[in-house]
Amino acid sequence: MKKETTIIGAGLVGSLLSIYLSKRGYKVTLYERRRDMRKETMSAGKSINLALSDRGIKALEEIGIIDEIKKISIPMHGRYIHNADGTTAYQPYGNEGQFINSVSRGELNKN
Ligand SMILES: Cc1cc2nc3c(=O)[nH]c(=O)nc-3n(C[C@H](O)[C@H](O)[C@H](O)COP(=O)(O)OP(=O)(O)OC[C@H]3O[C@@H](n4cnc5c(N)ncnc54)[C@H](O)[C@@H]3O)c2cc1C
Repeated sequence: MKKETTIIGAGLVGSLLSIYLSKRGYKVTLYERRRDMRKETMSAGKSINLALSDRGIKALEEIGIIDEIKKISIPMHGRYIHNADGTTAYQPYGNEGQFINSVSRGELNKN
C-alpha cells in the first residue's frame, strides 16, 4: 500500500500531524486556505497566545522543535482575578516554581 495522505488545514493540529506522518515515511500533501504565514504578515487566526503545557511540550519534543519553541515561550506562573469590588485574587497555575508557557500562535505555526 502506498504511504500517501492528504491533510486539510495547516493549523496547529494539521501541521503537527503532517510532521509526525512525514517522520513515519508518509508523503503528506497539506492544504491551507490562508496564505503562507511564513512569507506574509498575518494573524494565526486567534488573537490570544496559546498556553502550552506538558502535553504540547511532549508533542513538540517528539518532532524535535521544542528548543526553538522554548526560545519564544513566556512562563506564566499564575493569573490575577479582578473582582467586581475592586479587589484582586492571585491564582497560581501550579506549585511553586511550576508554570505554563505563553506562545504566539503565529510563531508556533511558522516553526
Ligand atoms: C479563544 C481560544 C483560545 C484557546 N486557547 C488555547 C490555549 O491557551 N491552549 C490550548 O492548548 N488550546 C487553546 N485553544 C484550543 C486550540 O486553539 C485548538 O485546540 C487548536 O487551535 C486546534 O487546532 P486545529 O489545527 O484543529 O485548528 P486551527 O488552529 O483552527 O487550524 C485550522 C486550520 O484549517 C484551515 N482551514 C479551515 N478550513 C479549510 C479548508 N476548507 N481548506 C483549507 N484549509 C482550511 C484554517 O485556515 C486553519 O489554518 C483555544 C481556542 C480558542 C478558540
